[in-house]
Amino acid sequence: MKVCNKCNKTKELSEYYWNSFKKKHTIYCKECARKDDKQNYHENIEERRKVKRAYFRKHYKEIYERQKKNRLNLKDGFFYVYCLLDKDFYVGQTDSVKWRNYAHKSEDVMILHKCKTRKEAKWFEKVYHDIGFPGRYGTNKKTPSH
Ligand SMILES: [Zn+2]
Repeated sequence: MKVCNKCNKTKELSEYYWNSFKKKHTIYCKECARKDDKQNYHENIEERRKVKRAYFRKHYKEIYERQKKNRLNLKDGFFYVYCLLDKDFYVGQTDSVKWRNYAHKSEDVMILHKCKTRKEAKWFEKVYHDIGFPGRYGTNKKTPSH
């Protein structure tokens, strides 16, 4: 159980997203994170892009090295948000079966998030695109209606 920093409600850990950069759960619950995301969508978007991209570029190598060791332990049934390091940090999401093909083909791919549901993976994917990573839902691409 964990207290949300925003709504101050005590909730199960499953009600918080996992932050794989910081290796801990987010301080806001999923509900607040979603609200926050909507609210801040148009505010400071350029600034947030800059900060997050800079953080990512600085730290991705150590995260990537750590993941390489765990790559063989990947279990089926999860959805992965991945980043192609050799394609200008293209961000996408996929299920575990396809993920293994990616991981097999390219050494320059890393996991950003491991999710239990496709919905969650898509949410994360979109967040990365919103902060400026290229991909299907990126600002320079049409967002498919779904
Ligand atoms: Zn909350």
